[in-house]
Amino acid sequence: MKPNHLVSIAKTYGAPVYVYDAEKISAQYQRLTSAFKDVQSLRLNYAAKALSNISILRLMNSLGSGLDTVSIQEVNLGLMAGFRPESIIYTPNGVSLEEIEEAAALGVQINIDNLSILEQFGAKHPDVPVCIRINPHVMAGGNSNISVGHIDSKFGISIHQIPHLLRIVELTNMKINGIHMHTGSDILDIDVFLYASEILFETAKNFKGLEFIDFGSGFKVPYKEGDIQTNVEELGKKLSKRFNQFCEEYGQPLTLAFEPGKFLVSEAGYFLTKVNVVKQTTSTVFAQVDSGFNHLIRPMLYGAKHEIVNISNPKGRERYYSVVGYICETDTFGNNRRINEIAEGDILAFKNAGAYCFTMASNYNSRYRPAEVLWYQGEAHLIRERETFDDILKNQVDVKDLFNPLPQAVVQK
Ligand SMILES: *Cc1c(COP(=O)(O)O)cnc(C)c1O
Repeated sequence: MKPNHLVSIAKTYGAPVYVYDAEKISAQYQRLTSAFKDVQSLRLNYAAKALSNISILRLMNSLGSGLDTVSIQEVNLGLMAGFRPESIIYTPNGVSLEEIEEAAALGVQINIDNLSILEQFGAKHPDVPVCIRINPHVMAGGNSNISVGHIDSKFGISIHQIPHLLRIVELTNMKINGIHMHTGSDILDIDVFLYASEILFETAKNFKGLEFIDFGSGFKVPYKEGDIQTNVEELGKKLSKRFNQFCEEYGQPLTLAFEPGKFLVSEAGYFLTKVNVVKQTTSTVFAQVDSGFNHLIRPMLYGAKHEIVNISNPKGRERYYSVVGYICETDTFGNNRRINEIAEGDILAFKNAGAYCFTMASNYNSRYRPAEVLWYQGEAHLIRERETFDDILKNQVDVKDLFNPLPQAVVQK
């Protein structure tokens, strides 16, 4: 999709608006699939929390993807989007036994990440196969360091608790059909990732009847030109080789699974905003857009650097701007960015706006959440209406009968 497509979408649907390029999503899906072409059975489960619009889920389903979900609501969205229960994995953290049972009753793959729930679930439902989430305590700490960290992470069952885990499995006679890890850190050093994988393989040897090993995610995507990113081709080559070798040792073919979120949708997304005010102070030129961290919180929450371009004046002279929002609180999108000269009314496009952008949006300052548009085969499709005032009031209960307005103060002369 080209910049002039974005300009025309902003004209048609107004700003602020999120735009997703279906072709980029499918290219990323194909890239990951071909990187792992050497394994017999590969499963990519798109992590719904990155971008959970039902039309995006339908697109993922049409590509052949499975779905990784973290709440019962995401499970239900996935089912509504046409995913078969078997192609949904449910990987919650810290949810109730009741919610896990609800997901199990829908027939989705359960993934359990603590011993307390594992024991309770196994005792009640020994016949429901369960995947277990392991914390290998490995994280990438710089270039080629292997640091044993995350010992206090709330995620996963520690590898140091494997003996206890095995006892629970034996006593409840439950079925373990998958082993999983997702450390949440970026895969920058492939050798570190392979090292963590060895811990998964080692753990897997304890279980007969496994069907899959799930390596989670952590694929890093570039946010600007020259940014470091995960070399998925190299990872594919090395991990596939080791995985095939492990299947031989294990004596049974297994499925290799991943759960990419950011990798599939980040670069496909653009967030289009309109410049309300260009404000010159003694030291800075601010471009204030009709948005804020209510729509895109990543810069304020994580210090994420989203590239910002002026699609209304792509040939204009470059100047320095600080791009900020309209929220009554500091909501900086980017400081001292070189951007083609900005005039009030111009449309600024934020890049890498596909993952964890709309899904983290809120109604702070009683603002409407933006519309979403999918660009598919050369055409724009509205996939979410912009909110209206009714959405702000929805679910609010106005207890107007409880309160009597005070009589107007009378000014004594
Ligand atoms: C969030 C999440 C992912 C996706 O992570 P990305 O960095 O977006 O690829 C995968 N698996 C689990 C369990 C998650 O919670």
